Amino acid sequence: MATSEIKRGLEFWKNIAIENDFREFLFRERNNNLWTNNRLFAAGLGTDPMCTYCKIKSGHTANRESFGHLFFDCSITTKLINQAQIHVGETAEKDSSLFRTTYWFGTGSIVDENGTENVNFDWAKMLFWEVFRYRLWKNRQYRILPNIEKVMREVLFGLHIIAISSNKWKQRLLTTNYNLGNITAQG
Ligand SMILES: [Zn+2]
Repeated sequence: MATSEIKRGLEFWKNIAIENDFREFLFRERNNNLWTNNRLFAAGLGTDPMCTYCKIKSGHTANRESFGHLFFDCSITTKLINQAQIHVGETAEKDSSLFRTTYWFGTGSIVDENGTENVNFDWAKMLFWEVFRYRLWKNRQYRILPNIEKVMREVLFGLHIIAISSNKWKQRLLTTNYNLGNITAQG
């Protein structure tokens, strides 16, 4: 990740009320310092470098749990991303470069009233997929294969907490073309 993108990611935890676990996840993710299984294994701290999700699903797997595998290429993750895309109305193909930049950096395209497509940075998209990856990480820690209903509930709840704790973030979350439901509603 470029320095500017790391900085943008780290700006999250300067000014919003988020749980410490999420803060730590962001910090480690943005600094490429998450303890995935292949990294634990390489450091002599783990005995199995293979993907947690693939193993739960199939019992046996040839896929190592690298950062890229766990958060993007894994078949479990791919399915969840595809389903989450439908929920929020993300139309770019998962493997397109447009979606990759949206997924990792929050840079998506917005079509204006004249039908012109503008590529813009979208804080809400960045935050949505960041919380999405955090939930993937938490479910992995609990050794749970999450379904999309669970993940969407967790992500939208996380966004709701952020929206009601920060006006700045509330505005950012409201000015997106993603369908995030009524994330600012109480309760
Ligand atoms: Zn996998």
